[in-house]
Amino acid sequence: MRVEFFKHNISNEDIRSAVRVLRSVFLTTGDVVSDFERQFSGYLGVKQTIGLNSCTAALHLSLLAYGVGPGDEVITTPLSFCATSNAILHAGAKPVFVDVEEDTGNINAEMIEASITKKTKALLPVHLYGQMCDMKKIRKLADKHGLVLIEDAAHSIEAERDNIRPGHVSDAACFSFYATKNITSGEGGAVSTNNVKKAELLKMLRLHGIDKSAIDRYTGRYKHWDMPVLGWKYNMDNIHASLLSGQLSRIDKLWAKRDALWKLYEEHLSGSKGLKALKTVPRSRHARHLFTVLVAAKKRDSVMWQLQERGIGVAVNYRPIHLLKFYKKTYGYKKGDFPVAESIGGSTISLPLYPLLNRSALIRVSHALNEIIKRGE
Ligand SMILES: *Cc1c(COP(=O)(O)O)cnc(C)c1O
Repeated sequence: MRVEFFKHNISNEDIRSAVRVLRSVFLTTGDVVSDFERQFSGYLGVKQTIGLNSCTAALHLSLLAYGVGPGDEVITTPLSFCATSNAILHAGAKPVFVDVEEDTGNINAEMIEASITKKTKALLPVHLYGQMCDMKKIRKLADKHGLVLIEDAAHSIEAERDNIRPGHVSDAACFSFYATKNITSGEGGAVSTNNVKKAELLKMLRLHGIDKSAIDRYTGRYKHWDMPVLGWKYNMDNIHASLLSGQLSRIDKLWAKRDALWKLYEEHLSGSKGLKALKTVPRSRHARHLFTVLVAAKKRDSVMWQLQERGIGVAVNYRPIHLLKFYKKTYGYKKGDFPVAESIGGSTISLPLYPLLNRSALIRVSHALNEIIKRGE
């Protein structure tokens, strides 16, 4: 029997909400989006949220809204999805990678300062797999050097560390509602910020830079719009927002299920000497987005294929960005530049983790993995 790598959690009630929107007059960015944005801000405890069509868009617009552009450097991690550093390139700036911590895979806050130059304009940490970076330290560094601080929180809506949650101490936090994320509308994203002025700018930037959205023009007497700045076409629509509100109201219940499954994996995999795992730091709530194991680099692909042959869905998150063809070609990166990211990226396997994964399937995955590792020793 197959064990899917991921199954979403869109309920019949969520589908009914989407059908209500589809039967209504207004499909694009309107009240359903505003309601979701308010609900999302409330969940995080952040002033404003702007609904977008992806986290990539959220990262791109956040960088632009805070003035990042050509000639600037942005410090980020090589151990992430390429969207993180691509957004820096889209803004016209240069990504500068700093290696990660061995224990967590997150950017090593101790190593950031050595990479800060006169050109550095922003820090862009990623809360990998749902575990927050050391935001206390990173906030201090940003203050000391006068840098913009933007979070890639695509994995970590539910996360907390040292009483800090995404969006609390940064200039903006970016979220994804892509098909395999903790809550999803297939595609989607958002940016949350406590900076009300930048929120207004972000709202314009998501829709061509025009100063009135379709809902402003639609309700009441016709008002002419103008275009004070050049923006993009990144707005979330009512259909996507309708799928997200219900999931957001269940988000902590969904998290609790993943947390229980996480612990069950730990219990069933702890006996295997050939497996290593990253750590959850103290005083934190890990968002439990991706459960990964580390195996010997030489055996990683073969272990993965054997799991697949048994009908078990797996993934690699991530082969480090600096070794992707474009980045090697454009910036001359090579093996050995960021050894810890390369070591994790070369030995990691992501296992199925989602609320609909039942315990017996998880135990089957664990037994299969233990057996494959044992046979390979
Ligand atoms: C998924 C993901 C993104 C991109 O999200 P999209 O909504 O697909 O643009 C960015 N960063 C990380 C870490 C991700 O996992």
